[in-house]
Amino acid sequence: MIINGESHKSNSGRTTSILDPSNNQPIAEVERGGRDDANSAVDAASRALAGPEWRDIDPSKRGRILFKLANLIREVSDDLSRIETQNVGKPLRESKGDVAWAARTFEYFAGLADKIEGETIPVPPKRLNYTLKEPLGVTVHIVPWNYPIALTSRSVAPALAAGDTVVIKPSEVTPLTALKLGELCAKAGFPKGVVNVVTGPGSEVGLSLVSNRKVDGVVFTGSAETGIQVMEAAAKSVTPVLLELGGKNPHIVFRDADLQRALKSIQEGIFTNAGQMCWAGSRALIHEDIYDQFVKDLVARTKNMHIGPGIEDATSMGPVISKSRQETILNYIRDGVGEGARILVGGEASNASKPEKGNFVQPTIFDNVTPEMKIGADEIFGPVLCVSKFSSMDDAVNQANNSPYGLYGGVWTSNVKTAHDMASRLQVGVVAINEYLVTFPQTPFGGYKESGIGHENGIKSLQYYTRTKNVSVNLS
Ligand code: NAD
Repeated sequence: MIINGESHKSNSGRTTSILDPSNNQPIAEVERGGRDDANSAVDAASRALAGPEWRDIDPSKRGRILFKLANLIREVSDDLSRIETQNVGKPLRESKGDVAWAARTFEYFAGLADKIEGETIPVPPKRLNYTLKEPLGVTVHIVPWNYPIALTSRSVAPALAAGDTVVIKPSEVTPLTALKLGELCAKAGFPKGVVNVVTGPGSEVGLSLVSNRKVDGVVFTGSAETGIQVMEAAAKSVTPVLLELGGKNPHIVFRDADLQRALKSIQEGIFTNAGQMCWAGSRALIHEDIYDQFVKDLVARTKNMHIGPGIEDATSMGPVISKSRQETILNYIRDGVGEGARILVGGEASNASKPEKGNFVQPTIFDNVTPEMKIGADEIFGPVLCVSKFSSMDDAVNQANNSPYGLYGGVWTSNVKTAHDMASRLQVGVVAINEYLVTFPQTPFGGYKESGIGHENGIKSLQYYTRTKNVSVNLS
């Protein structure tokens, strides 16, 4: 743990073994924090917020520290990527992408640190009325295990650009790159206590942080179920929450699409990170006229995938994060079969080299899926794609929107009108047309419906990390 710029041992003296999901062997021992450690981190962040070193800093200098952090991340990107792959299981090239994305995010918000401006507002005469944009305060960042460094950076970068102080709570199973990031923050020059990292279970550390009355804002990325608990706990002290939750995201493939491109992206959209992505394209709706051949081609591509440890060059898909997640995914697959869906490929624990040790699940495609089935409705959060047919645009829209989630959607067509009609009719926070798994630090990312509240990325995301104060001066 890192509290007040120092490495910190848990008050309980307990530690947790961190495992490599490709073989379930320990790769590190990490402090197992609890309520006292969480409170110490919030106290450190409160003191740093009030201290002149951070409170009175020139915003341009805040930006320069963030730029330096981005450079430091790039300098050690090979190490960070290897650690991420060993800890999360994803192929090394994916981890490299995540680390590069983290650096780009810090750069993007570094440039915005001195552009957070208030306004002067026209009011009845002999008055000056203006707004001050102030830091939100002490912010808590609760992060899931699927994109540890990328998602930590996604919320920490705007918070620091806005002048907040932060307490990061990584997932208890993937804390390693967040701890490295905490060390890099100290090297970059953030004053002590501005960035703190507390490791430990969500039900203890996470809940204590969210319930702490000195916390001014919470950013939670994780499951809808935990998001609701976080919201309930934060409500007791009227603490604002930004929630980035799950998805059951549809692709819609029209007849006139570039089908080769769609095939590649649909495959990547569900099997990247072994499907453990909020924005996984886990449903593919294919026009009935092209359905049979398209699905046949998708299955053939999937059969060619190489499953193995992420650290090996040949691997196209790694393991899932834990034995219990593996079992949950396999249970979903069994339920799907029980409810009458048909497996076209995959469906077993693994065809990897050492299946008995790692948490592998074969890339799996189902058809005959209906929205009433568990596999058709739930976020499986694994390498499982459900394909179905549609007959018209209305039918596609109805099927796509028939979900409690609304995070992301992919539309495949060469017709501009169809593309924009679909963009406006899909009830999702992000629509990707003729590509998938695309997001940038400068474009808003957030969910409709049960996929979340608020959004990350983009200039407007800074709104959440600041307070607006109105000042009225009577000049008469
Ligand atoms: P999770 O909800 O189990 O845990 C997320 C984090 O919350 C972890 O750090 C955990 O320790 C902590 N936590 C657990 N219980 C808590 C509590 N009671 N109070 C406070 N914190 C608590 O999620 P997960 O399994 O780590 O991640 C998978 C989920 O994350 C999926 O649903 C996925 O869709 C979602 N996700 C969403 C986005 C997005 O941008 N919308 C991105 C990535 C992942």
